This record gives sequence, structure tokens and C-alpha cells, in this order.
Amino acid sequence: MAEVTGPRLIRLSKSCIGDAEKRAVMAVLDREHLGMGAAVQQFEEALGAYFGRPAVCVVNGTAALQLALQAAGIGEEDEVLVPSLTYVASFQAISATGAIPVACDIDAGSCTLNPSDLGQRMSVRTKAIMPVHYAGGVGRLDEIYAFAGRHGLRVIEDAAHAFGTVHQGSPVGAKGDIACFSFDGIKNITSGEGGCIVTSDQEVLRRVRDARLLGVENDTLARFSGARSWDFDVTAQGWRYHMSNLMAAIGHAQLSRRAELAGRRQQLAAAYVRRLSNSPRIRPILSDFGAVVPHIFPVRIDGLADRNGLRSRMKDQGVETGVHYRPNHTLSLYARHARAPLPVTESVYPELLTLPLHPDLADDDIGHVVSILGQALS
Ligand SMILES: *Cc1c(COP(=O)(O)O)cnc(C)c1O
Repeated sequence: MAEVTGPRLIRLSKSCIGDAEKRAVMAVLDREHLGMGAAVQQFEEALGAYFGRPAVCVVNGTAALQLALQAAGIGEEDEVLVPSLTYVASFQAISATGAIPVACDIDAGSCTLNPSDLGQRMSVRTKAIMPVHYAGGVGRLDEIYAFAGRHGLRVIEDAAHAFGTVHQGSPVGAKGDIACFSFDGIKNITSGEGGCIVTSDQEVLRRVRDARLLGVENDTLARFSGARSWDFDVTAQGWRYHMSNLMAAIGHAQLSRRAELAGRRQQLAAAYVRRLSNSPRIRPILSDFGAVVPHIFPVRIDGLADRNGLRSRMKDQGVETGVHYRPNHTLSLYARHARAPLPVTESVYPELLTLPLHPDLADDDIGHVVSILGQALS
């Protein structure tokens, strides 16, 4: 794709779409069944084979989280423990159910939920934990599951960043209670927008399949065969959260390319780590890409005082950067639920900067970004 004018901008992130995705979309358009049907069923089957257990596709990752929480019986009067340092989608999905998101602190190294912080945030109303696999790493997930097991809590993993990451020899989502993925345009694989819920819990599966179709019971199979049911019952609140065939076609093609896309992210991130190893002030949040598929490449810059200035100097040199994320306990809607200070989140956040990462970056781009960062810092 040709940039028309000006110096080339190295984008923070972007969708990476090839001929396979374009052909798949054209095939759906030719069949003139754009809604939820055979293409969604095929994408779900392919995801199920990948995870080794069922996946239910929905319209986006936020909807996946909301439906998973609701299917697990979480709602009004309940509390969910969640790291403050996450996209607001995690918090919104919890509050959409009527439950209260209780902001928890992180480990400084990985920026993932610190299991040692859970005890002091818990109350009699706590029903679930939502760990967030920040940047693609799962952090101390086993300790979080152990804590949940001791206290009888559900675990709904926000795995939006972690499609393809392997933990204890299995892909994230293959084990554990419930995992939710996002297939939004810039995630590790995309279906345009989209997401899925992965679990072995048959009751949760049944509830999310109904809830994504306005609570119309047992409509999924009928839809897959092109015939929706007209004489149905509804016993629970539902939403229009299903995935369309158009989205599923893109997602399925991307799933087939997952090794290529993941490998490229890993190569580029490893190149960043090598290039940054001479800069003691700059510490990558992720550094081992054998098992982790990096979704973003955040670094912590020691003593960083003026992040906005740094970002605009880099932008002037053609390098886009990001900030992941403003802590949710500082947002007006959620500040009132903050239970105790979050010292690690508050000290890490001002020093975080996310460097460009997507599979279409060239090898040379990495060195270029690192040198522009060095100049902008000096
Ligand atoms: C992208 C994302 C989501 C939500 O996914 P959408 O598909 O955008 O709704 C949730 N949590 C995190 C951490 C994300 O990055």
C-alpha cells in the first residue's frame, strides 16, 4: 500500500489482511447469507479443534466477557477482582452485568494481576477473578487459579491479547475455567470485529449460545442450517451479540495463518529486546517469546517525566506510539469503587510506552524505532 505524501509513518498497530481473507469474504458475499450461519459454524469448529474444547463466537471481545460473566451467574451485588491496568472493556463488561469491578494491583515486571494482592481486595461479595493477559503474557496465572480454588471463585480470563500464547504446554484458552478472546482488527488474529468464549462448562456454553441470540433458546443449530426458529421460548435476558458469516470468514482465514502471524510478532519483539539490551533505562515488559505471542510491545522507561512530549517528538519523526492503559480506578465511573491504593500500578503507569508492533513491520523498522526513541529521550 502506497503512502501518498510525507514521510512514512510507522504505525503502532494495524490489521494485516492477505488474499486468503479477501477470497473468504467474497465467497460469503457470493452465497448471499451474511448473518450467522455456516461460516460461523465452520470458524467455531476450527477454533474448537485448536483449543481442544468448544468455542462460541460473538460480536466482539467485550461481549464475550460480558456473556461469560453472566453465564457464570455473576450480576447485581457481586464483585469481580480485575487488574486496574487493562483496557476499559474489561471493566465495562463487568459493570454491564451489574457487578462491581474491584481494581487490583499488578506485578511491576509483567504488568499482570498480582495474586498476592487479591486477599486484601476480596469481600463476601467477591464471585470471580478476571486476570488480564497483558501484552500476551499470562503472568502468575497458576497462583491466581490456586487462589480462586481456595475461595470458590470463578476465573474469567481476559485473553484478548493472548491468542496463540502457550502456557504449560497448552494454548491459552485450552485449560482453565473460562477464557475470552477478542478478534478486533488489531488483535493477534482478527475477524474484523469479533470475539469468542472458550470453556468446558456445558451450562456456560448453553447460556452464551442462547444469550448471543436475544435469549432465544436453542436457536444456534437452526441458524447454522439456515433456518431460524419461530416458535421459541425466552427465559433469560439476551442480546444481539452473535457473529456474522462475513466476520467468521475473515477469522477463519486468519486462524489458518496463525503460525505465520504469531511467528512474525515473535521475531519483531525479539529484535526489539536485542536492540534495547544496551539501554539500561528502557525495560521491555515481555522478553521471552518462546511461548508468548506478543500483542503489543510496551516498555517501561525509568524516570520518564514527560511521556506526552516524548510521544510527540517520536510522532514528528514518523513513529506512532501508544499508552496501555490509563488505570481504570482513575476513571470517573470506577474511582468510587477503589478500595485501597494501587502503588505498583500508579508508579508503573506514567513510565509505560508502547512501541509499534504488527506483522507487516519490516526488520529494519525495529532498529529505526529504537534509534528514534533514543534520540527523543536524549
Ligand atoms: C481488545 C480488548 C478487549 C475487548 O475486545 P473488543 O473485541 O475490542 O471488544 C478486552 N480486553 C482487552 C485487554 C483488550 O485489549
